[in-house]
Amino acid sequence: MNHESAVSRAKEIADRVLAPAARQNDKEGRFSSEAVAALGPAGLLGIMLPAEVGGSALGPRAFAAVIAALAEADASVAMVYLMHVSAAATIAAARPGATVADTLKEIGAGRHLSTLAFSEAGSRSHFWTPVSRAQRNGAGVRITAKKSWVTSAGHAHSYVVSSLAPDGTGPTDSTLYLVPTGARGLSVAGPWDGLGMRANASAPMTLDDCEVAPGLQLTDDGAGFTAMLEVVLPLFNLGAAAVALGLCRAAVAGTAAHLKSARFEHLGQSLGESLPTLRAQLATMQIETDGLAARVDDLVDHLERPRDTTMLRVLESKAAAGDAAISVTSAAMRVCGGAAFSKHMAVERLFRDAHAGAVMAPTGDVLREFIGRAILGLPLF
Ligand SMILES: Cc1cc2nc3c(=O)[nH]c(=O)nc-3n(C[C@H](O)[C@H](O)[C@H](O)COP(=O)(O)OP(=O)(O)OC[C@H]3O[C@@H](n4cnc5c(N)ncnc54)[C@H](O)[C@@H]3O)c2cc1C
Repeated sequence: MNHESAVSRAKEIADRVLAPAARQNDKEGRFSSEAVAALGPAGLLGIMLPAEVGGSALGPRAFAAVIAALAEADASVAMVYLMHVSAAATIAAARPGATVADTLKEIGAGRHLSTLAFSEAGSRSHFWTPVSRAQRNGAGVRITAKKSWVTSAGHAHSYVVSSLAPDGTGPTDSTLYLVPTGARGLSVAGPWDGLGMRANASAPMTLDDCEVAPGLQLTDDGAGFTAMLEVVLPLFNLGAAAVALGLCRAAVAGTAAHLKSARFEHLGQSLGESLPTLRAQLATMQIETDGLAARVDDLVDHLERPRDTTMLRVLESKAAAGDAAISVTSAAMRVCGGAAFSKHMAVERLFRDAHAGAVMAPTGDVLREFIGRAILGLPLF
């Protein structure tokens, strides 16, 4: 699979599987198992994994384009996919000696969905400081933790879990572990009934004295924080920006379609023909969307050719994308008037989904705090 075929497969799945079901899945808060069942055989679950485990070894450019294509049809599925690819990259980067080859091969074969279980009820959006602490259990550990939101909860085959290292001394001395579904003590702890992203099962999960074998320790003790920053953050922020881009594109397309089809019969004109103010707002939406696309391209370029400004771009992109998605979908709501407000069209779902990006960690506020500190030369943590 190359870049072009990855994107065309994602678009085909978006049109055939995601788009027809998005409205109903959103309404019912129903996880789209059909989407995962389609992404697997298409080779998209192993998109960035090396060829030795059956992956396609594609880079951030293909990943971002696939996410944007999925998000244009259903942002909930795009978020499930984003969490999976971020988790798969973390598993692939596991320390030598970790027994994850079979899991990686299952992902490469499109049969295994994974996700990240970082955020904890105790430290809220500050996922880099888990309050749970793994306890030694022979060569392995036992973990008791309250994970506050886990996308694909109850549907993933494995969870990349953070916990403070047994002998860690600082608040960021965490370790990452791979916990398979069905592990004793791991359970979904409540329902998911969000304002948006309703079809991605982002429910709380509990680990209750959950045993993790030594081979499933993904990082050295205390090295979880570094993996979060170096492996997860760049991919997650790029993917979150691409989700926002897909939402913006869908909002522009949905708004344009409405302005062409909705009519003032008494004037003999469509809304778009009749009202320059609506055309101007549509134009602003398009400008913001293309600006975000350029920002995503710029971040991809920085990840392909890392340089001094790369981390700044990683931080900026998610913050800017969250704002753009809220701005563009808010404009769509206004332009499409009562028709959007009354849920006659998909724009209202896009508006709700768009609000998730800014509150998902690292939140837009936290990113601004980091960026401001970085500019002033202050320590980030
Ligand atoms: C749809 C969805 C899916 C999710 N999926 C996952 C997942 O798969 N895995 C996972 O680990 N987590 C997941 N999360 C959790 C997410 O990453 C955040 O941890 C969570 O949204 C934080 O919510 P909170 O109420 O705890 O925020 P709080 O930490 O209580 O923040 C409240 C407000 O304070 C602001 N704030 C916090 N700290 C600072 C600061 N230092 N400076 C400035 N402002 C600050 C925040 O921006 C926010 O506006 C998901 C969340 C959502 C909504």
